[in-house]
Amino acid sequence: MVQDLLFGLFMAWSGLWVGEAAGVPAGATPASCHGALSQGGLLVCDGPAGATWQMSSETQTAGVDGRVLFGLARGAASPVELQYETAAGLSSQIRVEIADRHDEFRVIEGLECDKVDARTPEQIEHAGRSWVTKQAAFESFFEGPGVSEGFIVPATGPPSSPFGPERKYIGMSAETGEPCEKVSVHQGYDIAAPVGTPIHAPAGGTVILADPDLYYEGGSVFLDHGQGLVSVFMHMSALDVAVGDVVAQGDTLGETGNTGRTTGPHLHWSVKWRNPDRAGREGDFYIDPALLLALEAEVSTTETSAQTDASAP
Ligand SMILES: [Zn+2]
Repeated sequence: MVQDLLFGLFMAWSGLWVGEAAGVPAGATPASCHGALSQGGLLVCDGPAGATWQMSSETQTAGVDGRVLFGLARGAASPVELQYETAAGLSSQIRVEIADRHDEFRVIEGLECDKVDARTPEQIEHAGRSWVTKQAAFESFFEGPGVSEGFIVPATGPPSSPFGPERKYIGMSAETGEPCEKVSVHQGYDIAAPVGTPIHAPAGGTVILADPDLYYEGGSVFLDHGQGLVSVFMHMSALDVAVGDVVAQGDTLGETGNTGRTTGPHLHWSVKWRNPDRAGREGDFYIDPALLLALEAEVSTTETSAQTDASAP
């Protein structure tokens, strides 16, 4: 990981050197990317304020803090190539190597395919209303700490299902008798916890959805951490926050439960990366919360060493 970071820095500075040779003013802020360098992870890129960044088809313009975040899709290819251009027209490239995922793939046969789907008119209406509520929430963007303070585990309990595994279900519809196939990827990080376990904000943010009864998700809270990152908490038994509440890392959001379409009490925590500069939301995707927890350790290490430096004579 350190090698990747150094390589990224080298690429950035070598690009700037070329830029300076072409007559760009010296002393321009260099740029670099770090973060969760893995498929399903997150690139955290820092550079000049107002720089325009591009990764594949995604473009973002950095604010005054110079930071942009790019989610890394589950199937993202390595190395990742980024270009950035400063407001003064200096352009450069950064190349970042990212690690492959090794998610399990399972074929599960004998499923009753429509077991969890909405079937009655009331269920279909409920599911449709829930979908609209969720889409509307994902349209809103708030300022927030983003990744700057790291992420903490939102509930106490053993992790019970990681992000990433792909499952192919082969079965039959009990309703129609038709054979069916479903492929689903687990997009969250499950924590086994008895009903009533407190859920804490993994990072600060603004509550953009607080609904006690979404059809599949049950009691749910969406928390916008800023810079496009949203945490989603599902299957809650109690909600202690309302839309518009601003919470700090560690604040209580509610309690775990067994609501919605579940197979037992647990917290499903997922994190969606949205490009704030893209108009449509169809290109957004979920990233691996466990990788964000590892990022927290990185931030803590930096803080620890900074404190040590500060206390030195
Ligand atoms: Zn889950």
